[in-house]
Amino acid sequence: MSALDIAVHRSNDLVSDDRLAEILAAPGFGTHFTDHMLTAEWTPERGWHDARITAYGPLSLDPATAVLHYAQEIFEGLKAYRHADGSVWTFRPEMNGERLARSARRLALPQLPVEDFVATVDELVKVDERWVPGAEGEMSLYLRPFMFASEKFLGVRPSKHVTYMVIASPAGAYFARGIKPVSILVSEHYTRAATGGMGAAKTGGNYAASLAPQQEAIDHGYDQVVFLDALERKYVEELGGMNLYFVHDDGTIVTPELTGTILEGVTRGSIIELAGVLGHKVEERRFSIDEWRDGVTSGRITEVFACGTAAVITPIGRLVWSDGEVDCSVDGDAGPVTQRIRQGLVDIQYGRAEDTFGWLHRVL
Ligand SMILES: *Cc1c(COP(=O)(O)O)cnc(C)c1O
Repeated sequence: MSALDIAVHRSNDLVSDDRLAEILAAPGFGTHFTDHMLTAEWTPERGWHDARITAYGPLSLDPATAVLHYAQEIFEGLKAYRHADGSVWTFRPEMNGERLARSARRLALPQLPVEDFVATVDELVKVDERWVPGAEGEMSLYLRPFMFASEKFLGVRPSKHVTYMVIASPAGAYFARGIKPVSILVSEHYTRAATGGMGAAKTGGNYAASLAPQQEAIDHGYDQVVFLDALERKYVEELGGMNLYFVHDDGTIVTPELTGTILEGVTRGSIIELAGVLGHKVEERRFSIDEWRDGVTSGRITEVFACGTAAVITPIGRLVWSDGEVDCSVDGDAGPVTQRIRQGLVDIQYGRAEDTFGWLHRVL
């Protein structure tokens, strides 16, 4: 049971039913927000307190608010899914709660107990239930819990006032025209995280560091960048927002091991378990960029895909570096293993397949 007492102050200025229907017909991603938001405060004296759900709206921040200067901030991302019978579920929310706690430790932020994390997400979903899209079309309500240093103070030390919030945004099917392979540029100049750094924490700073390389890739006509390890510039880490998988011709699936510099995705862990049940041997180990390139060339690697909550699974086609490229898309489409794993996962999330892992958490 959650110890946090959440006060609910319902907005009296709700988005109209007509407007909501319009938004849910084409929600896009991260552009429309629900009628409410959840906020809680922390101080060393009082711990977590004043948890409340209020009308969604702008924050008023002092220009000296610590997060604006030193980026002491962490976040999470998960989704609420509506099943065909109208019920609403989240997927392994306690994993997100545990990861938020790990990120908090690294960023010197206070721990929010996992049961409080789950309770805050549940409560916002309940209050904004009409924003959870219908079961058809693989839509969902994307939930964004986050925590930041809200003390007004320019000195460098952990903030003594911290704010935790949850906001929610309806999300459409990520791939309107089916899942098409993306092209990946190897980031040869920039790295994302070094040993001892913040790579394993879900923090805005890691994303800030990825924006310039990502934009350069887009400017050159590629979809995403892949980051290599900072020490040897040799081992594949992740895309900066998605974890990677390499499907081999004997059915073995390899994913880079957790070395403290990549983010431990909930989707990543779930796919490791699911692929095992589907009969694949799954290896977590260091995987070099040469092994990727040579494996595609020799045919030993048959499919490559990336995963994360937002897009679930994205197939990868071209891998491009400064003086060459390889392509492992299967007739310009997602390969059969990628498709089977993706389907297996979304079928559990939407209640179309039995949840033999016990991953779903009922909200409504
Ligand atoms: C959130 C995130 C992922 C994917 O994690 P999921 O829990 O599967 O959504 C991968 N890499 C980074 C850097 C992330 O921030």
